[in-house]
This record gives sequence, C-alpha cells and structure tokens, in this order.
Amino acid sequence: MTRKIADCRKYPSETNCTLTITGEEDEVVRAASEHAASVHGHEDGPELREQVRGMLEDEKVS
Ligand SMILES: [Zn+2]
Repeated sequence: MTRKIADCRKYPSETNCTLTITGEEDEVVRAASEHAASVHGHEDGPELREQVRGMLEDEKVS
C-alpha cells in the first residue's frame, strides 16, 4: 500500500519545523495532529485532523 507523508516544512510555522511523518494514512493523521497540537499550538480535534488529512502526499516509491 502507499504510505502517506506529512511534511511540516510545507506548512508555514514560526518554528521552521522540519519534521516529516510517514506511514499509513490514519497513523500519519493522528501523529501529525498530535504534533501540530503539542508543538505548534493548534487545537486538536476533528477539524485539525481533516485539515491534516487534506495536506497528505503520497510517498514516492523509487
Ligand atoms: Zn512541525
């Protein structure tokens, strides 16, 4: 299956975060949402998770 990538560098932040999270979609959504909440001060909830889900990219398999 194709893994998904959430790359924090692609999202504007005040901390210049370089974290990349890769895994199955649900794993990435959960981890990236928790990361956004704990590191970037976003409010974790269904809205944030929808936003995170919308910004995932497919992992390029070479
Ligand atoms: Zn980050």
